[in-house]
Amino acid sequence: MSYVDEVMERVIAKNPSEKEFHQAVKEVLDSLRIVIEKNEEKFRKNAVLERITEPERVVSFRVPWVDDKGQVQVNRGFRVQFSSSIGPYKGGLRFHPSVNQGIIKFLGFEQIFKNSLTGLPIGGGKGGSDFDPKGKSDREVMAFCQSFMTELYKYIGKDTDVPAGDIGVGGREIGFLYGQYKRITGLYEGVLTGKGLTYGGSLTRTEATGYGLVYITEEMLKANGKELAGKTVVISGSGNVAIYAAQKAMQLGAKVVSMSDSNGYVYDPEGIDLDLVKEIKEVRRGRIKEYAEAKASAQYTEGKGVWTIPCDVALPCATQNELDLEDAKTLKANGCFAVAEGANMPSTREATDFFLENDMLFMPGKAANAGGVATSALEMSQNSQRMSWTFEEVDSKLHQIMVDIFKKVDEASKKYDLEKNYVAGANIAGFEKVVDAMNAQGIV
Ligand code: NDP
Repeated sequence: MSYVDEVMERVIAKNPSEKEFHQAVKEVLDSLRIVIEKNEEKFRKNAVLERITEPERVVSFRVPWVDDKGQVQVNRGFRVQFSSSIGPYKGGLRFHPSVNQGIIKFLGFEQIFKNSLTGLPIGGGKGGSDFDPKGKSDREVMAFCQSFMTELYKYIGKDTDVPAGDIGVGGREIGFLYGQYKRITGLYEGVLTGKGLTYGGSLTRTEATGYGLVYITEEMLKANGKELAGKTVVISGSGNVAIYAAQKAMQLGAKVVSMSDSNGYVYDPEGIDLDLVKEIKEVRRGRIKEYAEAKASAQYTEGKGVWTIPCDVALPCATQNELDLEDAKTLKANGCFAVAEGANMPSTREATDFFLENDMLFMPGKAANAGGVATSALEMSQNSQRMSWTFEEVDSKLHQIMVDIFKKVDEASKKYDLEKNYVAGANIAGFEKVVDAMNAQGIV
């Protein structure tokens, strides 16, 4: 049996219930076969794949808090510190009822390669809880965040592990978490990113993942003789990534015609009114359904189906496995020629294979959404220097980072004669740097 297959079997046997983790590991290892097979004995002897698929540390903890009725609630918290080969652990915190250890491990594993691709000194980690901030009062969210940080603070620090936001963790949650860290430790340090601008946050961090996604999409289109201007774009989700992807796509002359949430999607053939989406989602914390109630040209459909809307470019920006093989076929049949992932692993493996086999341009999440963590690393630098850069300075660094990521991914795919296979390109480019650092540091 090949070394890759052996390791894959072992990963499944050792982590039996973690299906999203298996999916992420399999996708990465499959595309690394071509690299591993060239030097199989050396990789095997050094157990490189066993080490890279085993987190350096997994912390799981109880998070008790009191709701507005006086009832004690108990959630489960996680932090997975996956790899510190190229820098302190870095990766977001997700608060969503679906969160379990397998989901946090898949996200932490992906983060290793994503962070490597940014070219910045950050290792891979991820954390979160099965707490659902939806429908909770500000006081309840604060009580939860304070309890969560009362345990988490033991494992993090500005030079060891620097969490950020993800699904369900935005500016409000980061503020409460930061306040509690400072209160417990007495340290005013850059231990979290995504902070507010009045207490150490970076301009452009809010926009970074969505903007970065569109910057790299534009690079991919340019390299293939196309551009975003004049194209119709379908976006899923209506959270942080989706909103700022829509904003940048519109700035570059595209027409964005949809947004969604976990209840349904809106289709607005006139083009999405982003101020209205922001008012509903960022100010009122409402549902996307309200968009169609306020705008006559829009139609709301309950449930799934956002990928049935005809478009040139699709940007999945909600959650994992939200786009399956049937969706991929429908997109293609309706004329879509490019897909770039704002979310982490939003396309199933079958959908990804379909895109690649049908000559569609496809940029995987670990490259396409790396602008968020890259800007978080810029926030860490500003905090260390006690400086803050202007919006334009950070935006131009972000733009350059995304251009460089596209170049690395494209070059890695060409090096192995896999031209335009950006999935393989991203995995290979991310992996080679991490393995080089692992080898240099001995057996750790
Ligand atoms: P938000 O919480 O701001 O928004 C998430 C959006 O996705 C919401 O519209 C939400 O709808 C929808 N959504 C979440 N879960 C589901 C689900 N199970 N089914 C359908 N829709 C769902 O999160 P972000 O925008 O920050 O994150 C979106 C994706 O981008 C995630 O995969 C995240 O890991 C990834 N990402 C985020 C980065 C960041 O900087 N924030 C960086 C890199 C990747 P609802 O309101 O109904 O829950």
